Amino acid sequence: MGKIILTGDRPTGKLHVGHYVGSLRERVRLQNEGNFDKIYIMIADAQALTDNAEHPEKVRDNIIEVALDYLACGIDPEKSTIFIQSMVSELTELTFYYMNLVTVSRAQRNPTVKTEIKMRNFEANIPVGFLVYPISQAADITAFKATTVPVGEDQKPMLEQCREIVHKFNSLYGETLVEPNILLPKNSACLRLPGIDGKAKMSKSLGNCIYLSDEPDAVKKKIMSMFTDPNHLRVEDPGETENNPVFIYLDAFCRDEHFAQFLPEYQNLDELKAHYQRGGLGDVKVKKFLNNVLQSELEPIRNRRKEWEKRTSDVYEFLKQGTIEAKKVAAETLNDVRNALKINYFD
Ligand code: ATP
Ligand code: MG
Repeated sequence: MGKIILTGDRPTGKLHVGHYVGSLRERVRLQNEGNFDKIYIMIADAQALTDNAEHPEKVRDNIIEVALDYLACGIDPEKSTIFIQSMVSELTELTFYYMNLVTVSRAQRNPTVKTEIKMRNFEANIPVGFLVYPISQAADITAFKATTVPVGEDQKPMLEQCREIVHKFNSLYGETLVEPNILLPKNSACLRLPGIDGKAKMSKSLGNCIYLSDEPDAVKKKIMSMFTDPNHLRVEDPGETENNPVFIYLDAFCRDEHFAQFLPEYQNLDELKAHYQRGGLGDVKVKKFLNNVLQSELEPIRNRRKEWEKRTSDVYEFLKQGTIEAKKVAAETLNDVRNALKINYFD
């Protein structure tokens, strides 16, 4: 059995720095290390439609935006297979069979789905498709026999539910599906990057994002408006770094060499934090440093994106080829599943 990655994003907007530290940066690293036999990256348009049924144009328009963000970050279509979920109809069929292995109350208990229902004000009007999207996610993962799923922390309950489905399927019908493992970022600041409002996780649906494609002045404006410690009123006041979004972003992005380059009075982040905690370090100075760090990280991404934006027909061609390949692999798994379910009548 090979080492296989499946991961993806919903085409509900451009990708943001939360995606970058939570999953994208890790994917690029794994891709370039070359220790995996296959890497599949899915643009989850069918999943995006479960809560955007009224806005199919939004989902359609964002397919290319997400693909451009991938390429900008260094996903290489020669090494990773990028495909569009809805074009692989085998995934829908697998979902249909897996639905029989999950109870309604189990679907309702998924904590991420619960939070997202609240966030979207669905409450009494939950689309059935939205409630069961973790089941379709299990289909996506198992269709490619994925062993490893690199995602942010909000996806933990999805992976748990997927593993339950695999267990149930294999114990009822015989060893057919592969149990996947979640791969979370090691750096705890990257597990769930907060939005610039400091409240919830950075999320396309909440409009609290710094996008990978934001222009330099937009990035700066967003950073300068960020929340910090509300009790750190004057420069002399001692400040908190723990729940302070500016320091969480620094935890996620900055390296010691950034200090040498932009703030040589400090050796590293620990020294900067210690100064903030004892008082005497102003928010503006910290934010300016964060701005320099982020600008230096985002500039090459933005530039590569601009190059790819001139070649969108090539990008669609990559997506098409990736989708053809993905369909072939998913069809093999579907065949195994149909055999296991004894619904292979004409074989
Ligand atoms: P939506 O609001 O439409 O759900 P989203 O911003 O939550 O969009 P997704 O497409 O749902 O983005 O998530 C894609 C991937 O990025 C997942 O692996 C998810 O765990 C990760 N991710 C999303 N937001 C963050 C974040 N703030 N911090 C770390 N990882 C994140
Ligand atoms: Mg999400």
